[in-house]
Amino acid sequence: MPVSRRFFLTRGAGALSITFLAAPAAGQELAPFDMAALKEGYRRRVTAIKDAGMLPVIDIESSCNPQKLDLAAFARAMDRAGIAQMALSVDVPGSLYERGERWGHHVHDFVRNYPDRFIPVGNGGNHPAWTRHPDTFLDDNERWIAAHRYPLMGEFEFRHYPSPRQFDRGETFRDVNMALDGPAGHRLFSFAEQSGVPFQIHYEVEDGLLPVLAAMLARYPRAKVIWCHLAQVRFAERASRYSPSFVRELLLKHPNLYIDTAFGGPGSVYKPSGQKHARVWNSSGQVDRAWRDVITELPYRFLAAIDIGGDRLDRLEEWTANLRKFLAELPRPARDIVAHGAAWKLLFGEELPP
Ligand SMILES: [Zn+2]
Repeated sequence: MPVSRRFFLTRGAGALSITFLAAPAAGQELAPFDMAALKEGYRRRVTAIKDAGMLPVIDIESSCNPQKLDLAAFARAMDRAGIAQMALSVDVPGSLYERGERWGHHVHDFVRNYPDRFIPVGNGGNHPAWTRHPDTFLDDNERWIAAHRYPLMGEFEFRHYPSPRQFDRGETFRDVNMALDGPAGHRLFSFAEQSGVPFQIHYEVEDGLLPVLAAMLARYPRAKVIWCHLAQVRFAERASRYSPSFVRELLLKHPNLYIDTAFGGPGSVYKPSGQKHARVWNSSGQVDRAWRDVITELPYRFLAAIDIGGDRLDRLEEWTANLRKFLAELPRPARDIVAHGAAWKLLFGEELPP
């Protein structure tokens, strides 16, 4: 039996299926995360996956609907996909929000059950909790990120078009447009700067939005920002300035900026525009040389991400395969750095020991 199979059989056996239906506990009853202890488990799992002959992936950006997550099945899928750790944020669904839930503490359950697999990450800033009441969401975010010592905040949607699946379902509520330099944006950047905890943004590529991002990065130079979805351009006609050299200049000018690599496959079309929105790929379906050169030059600024979400929790291996196709086209050592080394350095401030 190949070593990779043996690793997964021994690691994946025996877990019970658990489905979460509601918030597990009040926040005050929960102890802060012990990141020093978790880090040791993370390191061992990264090494075990390497020893099994796979490239370990640390996924910096995925989310879930906690009501739809079968945690044991999900953990087994992580094993099969060679995912060392995931930052799996909770998106409080509308049904729970209507019942009064504002901040979901489910990540504590993920970490308690599978401490070597999950990186504590704050709730996702999305509809309805974030879009309806950004101040309340930020109150909760600041309270729990600090009290429970999260090393990472979730993905805040400032400019977000409906996803392809939402477009198919006719869901337009996710056409989010909040000013990055509005009151909520300033408060978020300021908290990130004071706390040192990185946060993620979903911010579509539009010419008019790019100077705003640059100005905020300059105004809060110690706020660590992960801009999700490298080169995901849904309307090319709105993004005349965005290119590999634009991104390179932005990264060189703003050392506090990171970019995650969650994007669609080479054939993925964004139906509202009819365009292939994952611009990392060239017309032959390979990583465009200019993008590859920027990533190879600045690998610690690019983070592996899968962007699994509440409506595709059972498709983890398929989504990971797309990421792996991209990673496989990067030269070493950039491939290993983007797959796991960059996340490790961002989260722990040190290089991952060999
Ligand atoms: Zn996103």
